[in-house]
Parts: sequence; C-alpha cells; structure tokens
Amino acid sequence: MTVWSRRTKTAQWILAGAAALCTGVAFGHGTAGAPASDGSRIIEFPDTATHETLVVDLHTHSVFSDGHVWPSIRIGEALRDGLDAMAVTEHLEWQPHRADIPHPDRNRSYSDARDAANGSQLIVIPGSEITRAAPAGHMNAIFISDANALFKVEEAPADASDAVAYYQVANQWPAAEAVKAASSQGAFVFWNHPYYTRIYKNAIARMTDFHSALIRAGHLHGIEVANGNTYSEEALQMALDHDLTILGVSDVHNLIDWDYQPAAGGHRPVTLVFTKERSAQAIKDALFAQRTVVWFKNLLIGRNDQLTPLLDASLEVADARYRPDLEIVRLTLKNSSSARLMLRNTTDYTFLDHPDLLEVPAHGTTQVTVRPQQVVAELSLEFEVVNALTAPKVHPRWRRTVQIADVPGTEATQ
Ligand SMILES: [Zn+2]
Ligand SMILES: [Zn+2]
Repeated sequence: MTVWSRRTKTAQWILAGAAALCTGVAFGHGTAGAPASDGSRIIEFPDTATHETLVVDLHTHSVFSDGHVWPSIRIGEALRDGLDAMAVTEHLEWQPHRADIPHPDRNRSYSDARDAANGSQLIVIPGSEITRAAPAGHMNAIFISDANALFKVEEAPADASDAVAYYQVANQWPAAEAVKAASSQGAFVFWNHPYYTRIYKNAIARMTDFHSALIRAGHLHGIEVANGNTYSEEALQMALDHDLTILGVSDVHNLIDWDYQPAAGGHRPVTLVFTKERSAQAIKDALFAQRTVVWFKNLLIGRNDQLTPLLDASLEVADARYRPDLEIVRLTLKNSSSARLMLRNTTDYTFLDHPDLLEVPAHGTTQVTVRPQQVVAELSLEFEVVNALTAPKVHPRWRRTVQIADVPGTEATQ
C-alpha cells in the first residue's frame, strides 16, 4: 500500500475496526466486540510499480449456512487481519441451521456483514456458494446483485431440521442454470476446492466437461489453488492451461484465530489483487484480468507477470558497501511484505555468513556478506525465490544490479 506507511495503515485499521465494531451499541450485547488488533497480524504487501495491492478473502461462511459465527464476527476478524476486502459466501442449498435460522432472504448474510463493516475501510463483496455433487462441485459467485435468484427450491421438506432432505431438493436445479443466473448479474464465478476429497477420492483436480463448457461460455472465471489448509498443483496447472484467475481463500467456518493461529505467526490464505484503485469495481476488474497472487502458508503463487512485479516491490537492497579495509561487500536485503522471503543464490558469488540459502523476515532485513573475488564497483545479484511459484515446481527469480559504496582504492563515496 503506498497510500499509508505500514505503521499508519496499522493505526488506521485499528481505529476503523474500533469504529465499525462500536456501531449498534445502543442495543445491549449487540456488537461483535472484537478486541482491536495490535497490528502484528496485519497482512500487508507493497503496491507494485503499476498497481495497488489489495488483500482479500473471497470465501468464508457464517451461521447463515454451515459456519459457526455471525457474519459480523467475520468482519471483526478481517479488520484484525487488515484485509482490504472480503466476502461471506454462504452455501445456498446446504442450510444446516435452517430450523433455527429459516433464512428466507439469502442476501441477509451480506447485508449484516456490510453493516458491521460500516465506518471502516473494509470493502464487503456480495457472494454465494453454489453447492452440488460431482461433476459441478462447489462454485462461488461474487459481485452478485441478488443471491435469491441463484437457487430454486420447489417445495421445502416440512422438517426444517433435516438439512440433507432440504439439500436434496435444492440440489435438483441444474448447477449450470444457477451459474448462468449469476453470470446474468455480472458475477465473477470461480471453482472452489476442485480437489475436494468428499467428491474426488484421490484429491486430484481434473478438468471436467461440465466446467470446460462453462469456461467456453464465459461463465467460469477463476479457480481456487489454495483453500484453507490445502493446496493443489493440479489446480494451479489448470488455471494456467484454461486461463482462469488464480485464487486462495480461507473458506473459514470456525474462527480464523483457531484455524490459523495468527498470534503465533500463522496467517489465513488470501488473494492479493492488483488494482487500479481501492474500490469494489477495481477489485472486480482485476479479478477478471487475472491480476492476482495467492499467499498460502507463506507460499506466494501467481502468474509470472503478476508475481515478478510483487517481488520487485517487496525486496530491495537497502545498502551495499565494502567492509573497511577488506574486499568483501556487506549487503542489507530489505523485505517490505508480510511474507518471509526464502532465497537461493544462483550466482557464482559465495557468502561469508550464509550458505546459498537465506531468509529475509517479513517487514525486516537480513545482512549478507558477499565475496566478489575481485574489487568491483557493482554486483549483479540473482536469487531464486524458493517460497514462490509461477507454475508447479517453478520458482521465479529476483535480479538486481547494485552499485557498491566505499570501493577500496577510491575516494570515500559516502
Ligand atoms: Zn465448498
Ligand atoms: Zn465454502
């Protein structure tokens, strides 16, 4: 984010979160009441040279389907994580809480989340999860205008506590019709966990005739390569082969703090979206244009043309100078992202204080002492970024030529 420094963004988020969570206090115990974030768990990546970098989670659940918290709690968590945008995407057809929460209006979860975020910087995106058995599986439609148009239940079973019976009725409306209805609202539609073990026993994602027909018709635009605790190389390859947007989501049903332990350095999977500005429309445009990188278990996953500018913005040489009276160079590598960057030296230079592998901590620096072998005025560095992928098993490279200060035998340069 170039708009604010990290410190300022953190402060803004805490204030915005406090303001958002204070709305509605007039009615007793009605607020989400999440404690303010201390800033240490805020997920933040720098803007690239050409775009703003927004942090989003496009797949979460609340009690309005099979989640275990009210939507406003999702907002409290998002504010604590410093997300720029999120969606609460309820299963339209799987309604296990229907006996307690009849849920006649499927837009209710979105409107509650939006109200809870009121007064904060957080953008809430309307969305739903279209839920079927194989081959369709699960698909999220986001940027929808009316969730009620995306499902059809001819006659609900009398026993509201029988979620399976309800699902079997709701399951009858063809998934392709539901996706078409979402498309007619201008939705961005993506394939959720295409390696879901309840559907695919071997957990391997494979393109189906059903999904390739949707892609050809222009109704399916993205694919999750990371969902919750899981990741799929096959899904990443499918995104590249079929021109789908690469996405990573939490799909959280419980609490972010329970599932990801942010206080202990963990993080939820998120999608970094490279936008023209900070708005819902700009996020939608960027998703359709495939300008994303996923951050999952500290792994950065994205197309080369999106990941390279992000790494260029995240990692820099803050200082490079000869050590006094020696012919070795001390570099300070600086990382301005929330990812720990794991680097492998691919040049012939060797280091005095590291093997060929080194790590630059999130929002921190690492010093590396290089042996250039002869006195030179500049160094050409190249590192493979080991915790980043542009395709299955393919790691991008970060390159930089740096001028060195205090070259021996010359006037002091600084
Ligand atoms: Zn699902
Ligand atoms: Zn889900």
